[in-house]
Amino acid sequence: MIPVNIPDVRQEDVDAVSQCLLDGWISGEGPVVAEFEKVVAHSVGRQHGIAVSNGSDALDLAFAAIPLKPGDEVILPSFTIISCLAPILRMGLVPVFVDADPLTWNMRVDQVEASISPKTRAILMVHLYGLAAEVRSILDLAETHGLIVIEDAAEAHGIEYEGQPCGSFGHLSTFSFYANKNLTTGEGGMVLTDDPVLADRLRLLRNLSFRPEKRFVHDELGWNMRLTSPQAALGISQAARLQSNVLRRREIAKKYIDAMSHFPWVQFQAESHERSQNGYWVVGVKLLSNSPFSNAVEAMTFLAEHGIGTRPFFFPLHKQPLLEGGHYQFRIAADMGVSEDLGENGFYLPNGLGMSDQMLAESVDRTVQALTSLGG
Ligand SMILES: *Cc1c(COP(=O)(O)O)cnc(C)c1O
Repeated sequence: MIPVNIPDVRQEDVDAVSQCLLDGWISGEGPVVAEFEKVVAHSVGRQHGIAVSNGSDALDLAFAAIPLKPGDEVILPSFTIISCLAPILRMGLVPVFVDADPLTWNMRVDQVEASISPKTRAILMVHLYGLAAEVRSILDLAETHGLIVIEDAAEAHGIEYEGQPCGSFGHLSTFSFYANKNLTTGEGGMVLTDDPVLADRLRLLRNLSFRPEKRFVHDELGWNMRLTSPQAALGISQAARLQSNVLRRREIAKKYIDAMSHFPWVQFQAESHERSQNGYWVVGVKLLSNSPFSNAVEAMTFLAEHGIGTRPFFFPLHKQPLLEGGHYQFRIAADMGVSEDLGENGFYLPNGLGMSDQMLAESVDRTVQALTSLGG
């Protein structure tokens, strides 16, 4: 079986982690984490980075650090990971879901605009699967209506929009360094901002809100979300390959797309839009209605029988069982059809950065041969 992700861990990464351990930096305090924060902030042109345990924590921390109160509305795409919704619900905020664009699969700006109400306070802008969201229009709307923008750039590390790095646009931006991200620490995440006051607040909340001048005295509740130093050492080493990783992802996607474009029932995410080029964090495939499979699960089972590992797309947030039963308030835009279609008919193919050229060729061949054997 060719796994959907093989991480790229090299000897230089192992050496960096070993050195960190031998130097005695094993907790989340100390210079290695601080150095990693600088490296990542620099990679996206931001002033301050606050490293945390994972990308979900980064979102929790970002939301906790801004002045929002229960009942405030936050606009977000439905087609994204649960980590985007969790902080909103935990804080008693009201999620307002918008649909995905049928070509870019990113949040629909017309629906963002139509969803703004007197209670709207923030927009969670997510770059999906390596293609930048419609940043300019979203920032303009936010400015017009006085809204905070939180930018989830976990899938767009190293990608640019209008020549500027994704992760440099929101009042706060968040990253994940999970095993399949463009820069990985196994588990890890970061919140970035240019606002020094906000940065101090994020650091406090990350570290149990110890009073800086009097440890073990707390003015409010924080968390322990610290990233460990050995993880940070891995991250510093990985960061040197961020740009080449993005190029490799594009190369991988191109191989699949070139080999599969003759299947009339396969749709890939847009390769670009006028302001950004897709970094193909994943090679997503959506089945069209004339496909020989009735849904993604059927196609994934079939490909697994041919030794191809896959993962399903996100299941739309507005359809999550946890929203049933009326415990949480939420609103949805008028039409959510694209998110539902993507959730039902989308999956992605093996594209790990640790995959050799030979394994990639094998994966593309097997996929094409398996699909061709269907007669389509
Ligand atoms: C991976 C990811 C996260 C969550 O990160 P974890 O490190 O897995 O908690 C959040 N948002 C997006 C868009 C992601 O892709």
